[in-house]
Amino acid sequence: MIRMMQHQYADLGRQFAIPTLPEKIGHPKILLWNQPLAEQLGLDLTETEQAQYFSGQKLFSGSKPVAMAYAGHQFGHFNPQLGDGRAHLLGEFNNLRRQIQEIHLKGSGRTPFSRNGDGRCAIKPAVREYIMSEAMYALGVPTTRTLAVVTTDETLFRQQPTTGAIITRVATSHLRIGTFEYFAARGLYVELEQLVDLAIDRHYPQINKNEPNKYIKLLSHVIDKQIELIVNWMRVGFIHGVMNTDNILLSGETIDYGPCAMLEVYNPATVFSSIDESGRYAFANQPNIAQWNMVRLAECFIPLIDDNQNHAINQVMPLLEGFVPTFKTAYYLMLAHKLGFNEANPAIKKLSQELLVLMQQNQLDYTQTFDYLTSSLQSKQSPHPTFNDWYEKWQMLLTENNASSHETSMLMRQNNPLLIPRNYHIEAVLAHVETHQSAERVWKFLKPLESPYTLTETTEKYQKPNPEFNESYQTFCGT
Ligand code: AMP
Ligand code: MG
Repeated sequence: MIRMMQHQYADLGRQFAIPTLPEKIGHPKILLWNQPLAEQLGLDLTETEQAQYFSGQKLFSGSKPVAMAYAGHQFGHFNPQLGDGRAHLLGEFNNLRRQIQEIHLKGSGRTPFSRNGDGRCAIKPAVREYIMSEAMYALGVPTTRTLAVVTTDETLFRQQPTTGAIITRVATSHLRIGTFEYFAARGLYVELEQLVDLAIDRHYPQINKNEPNKYIKLLSHVIDKQIELIVNWMRVGFIHGVMNTDNILLSGETIDYGPCAMLEVYNPATVFSSIDESGRYAFANQPNIAQWNMVRLAECFIPLIDDNQNHAINQVMPLLEGFVPTFKTAYYLMLAHKLGFNEANPAIKKLSQELLVLMQQNQLDYTQTFDYLTSSLQSKQSPHPTFNDWYEKWQMLLTENNASSHETSMLMRQNNPLLIPRNYHIEAVLAHVETHQSAERVWKFLKPLESPYTLTETTEKYQKPNPEFNESYQTFCGT
């Protein structure tokens, strides 16, 4: 059965999205197909159909492919025109839960926004996005997902010649802060208003579109979602790497798995992205940047809120100023959960801060340490000799907290993954895929990552940290 697509976003008009067809390519072949996600989307296709549709060679009926317009602050500098330079929004499907899902191809050819780019995506970044987004999904982190990776018969010239690929991203929307900035920078307030209404319809239907306060409410909800997202990133040790405003969605889903990587040895200053020389997007700087990004979004809303700019600013300031305290509360609650507490009182906050310091001083692995602590509820053994005093304090506070040991253990297990997609495994899998054009290693690697909070047959195989690897590890924006 071939499904009908909707084209809500394309219908906003040419200023938002320029009708553009994916380019013709030879021999599209399906490399990765996400069967559970396909089922949620109600898709039942043969392999040939998968490759044809998700390389843009064939279009679903109702599809109106477009390249979306957006701007963005990249490393703090405003670029008024970015846009989909190598991507096409095919349209939307309703999933089985009747939620709208946008279907977006990346690597599908040049568009009016391509500038000097070739419009293509290489196989390694495509597979990287598949693995990382699906691992994040299983870890319970809000994220866009990946339906398919198709390879093409084209050779791309990057640092070395490589195979071309097209990835299909599924997102509840692609409304980025940069989408709003695009229209705000041009003084196109009618269009800006349309975007606000779309964001409300899609993501925050609890807001009444007819009330004058809707912009403030929208900003407030987006801030809450953004805090929830960053707290989740920090819970599992995710470093996004390129939190430019064009890579931040109003839905609060993670998007753009370019130079992202996992924090392994705990160090708040960890950066892997080769272009992030100043550490702007370092692990522990992510909340500051998220707040900075929210200020950029608020600026877009100012002209809509009130003709008097000062009045408008007075309305958004409390929300922006509230970001840091709200974030801190959520962050310490998350750390408390990782240590088995239901709340974060001052003693528990201090305890979690001390743990982070110990981890950093002893260069311990973030995931492994929390996993050891979780298992130690049974063995009652400190994971590291220098931890003994801390460990005793922790045990005492747990007793004072008087939750049952079962509850404590459950809470810790739910918040501390046994397994994360470690950087050296990712790179080994990608090298294998590129050389052999085979998905076998990807499926093996993803299998235990599908249930990262439970021990499976192959969990242990991928648990071991590799600190030496990370010392010189560098990631790149996926071009
Ligand atoms: P990204 O690094 O994927 O977030 O991309 C940033 C901007 O560069 C977006 O406007 C992309 O569409 C554009 N871009 C990245 N790679 C290419 C490419 N190979 N061809 C055309 N545009 C590209
Ligand atoms: Mg991007």
